[in-house]
Amino acid sequence: MMEQVKVLIDLQEIMTRGRSVESEKRKVPLEVADLKGLFEERETKFLSAQQEFEQLKKDRREKEREIEEERDKVERAKAKLMSIKTNKEYYAMLKEIEATKRINAQREEELLSVMGRYEESEKRLAEYKAAVDEVGDEYRARMVDIDAKMSVFDREIGALEAKKAQIASRIDKGLARRFEMIFDRRDGIAIVAARNQSCMGCHMNLSPQLFNLLQRDDRIHTCPNCNRILYYEAPEAEPSGK
Ligand SMILES: [Zn+2]
Repeated sequence: MMEQVKVLIDLQEIMTRGRSVESEKRKVPLEVADLKGLFEERETKFLSAQQEFEQLKKDRREKEREIEEERDKVERAKAKLMSIKTNKEYYAMLKEIEATKRINAQREEELLSVMGRYEESEKRLAEYKAAVDEVGDEYRARMVDIDAKMSVFDREIGALEAKKAQIASRIDKGLARRFEMIFDRRDGIAIVAARNQSCMGCHMNLSPQLFNLLQRDDRIHTCPNCNRILYYEAPEAEPSGK
């Protein structure tokens, strides 16, 4: 067998291994796809609960501050009452104090409702946090595992790439490029045997002239139908190989 053909067969073998390693590598992240989905779903829920909680915390502080201010106002008004001379002014002031107190009573109602929601929200937040952590720890642990697996594949791919370059250096650059092009376009099979006057890639019958040329084994020939590189294989060699 021609040296070039031997090299191309080796090249095809190494590239096929490279392809299968690449495809195994692509499957790795799928192992955690469900867990990732679950984690992200819970994380989204947690983050929106957190936002709601922060808002309620702010509302609560705001209400408390308002009530405090109004209370001070009432206290100041009460102190002023002592120095008022006329009844008319006195009653006007009392009325104002009562009105402020009423408004504050309303505010206190509102505060109670905010506090109720605040506590519920705090409880919900803790629940969601626990739910995220439950999945998150597992997810992060699995991701470490996945990263490790991916780097094993990367190392293997790197080694195969180096081997491929080494093999390819034994043939003409143009032929190597052409080979890669056929490999990509013909689903990873770029060089095939011609056996019983047929191309083993596309199973087309080859012309007797071409078959004769192939048997001479002195030049590279391609299949006129699928463009794969052909090499002659004697019928008795059939059972060996794969
Ligand atoms: Zn063919």
